[in-house]
Amino acid sequence: MTELICIVCPKGCHLKVDEENGYKVTGNGCPRGAAYGEKELVNPTRVITSTVKIEAKTARRVPVKTAGDIPKGRIYDIMKELDKVTVKAPIQIGDVVIPDVLGLGVDIVACKKVTE
Ligand code: SF4
Repeated sequence: MTELICIVCPKGCHLKVDEENGYKVTGNGCPRGAAYGEKELVNPTRVITSTVKIEAKTARRVPVKTAGDIPKGRIYDIMKELDKVTVKAPIQIGDVVIPDVLGLGVDIVACKKVTE
């Protein structure tokens, strides 16, 4: 039995996941917590937020995020990739900064508009 706190919404339900009983989840206040509890043990993923360097007059870094979930175990590898990147202004929200990062099928996208 593994105990987790659900991070899907601010309520933070205390979950118990029974690995020996088909990942049955208890303590969840809604079905999303059951899905989260099972996924967290079988295939944990995260959306990553960070920043990358930018060549611009008005900013030195621009916030970015993964456009979808990536495996939790690859977070450090992705942070190393972000450290290698420098983008140039202008950049728009949603512009792809790194396509298909590390072949994971997820793009890194800009989260802020920087015009100059
Ligand atoms: S189980 Fe449902 S209600 Fe509870 S924290 Fe997760 S999403 Fe929120």
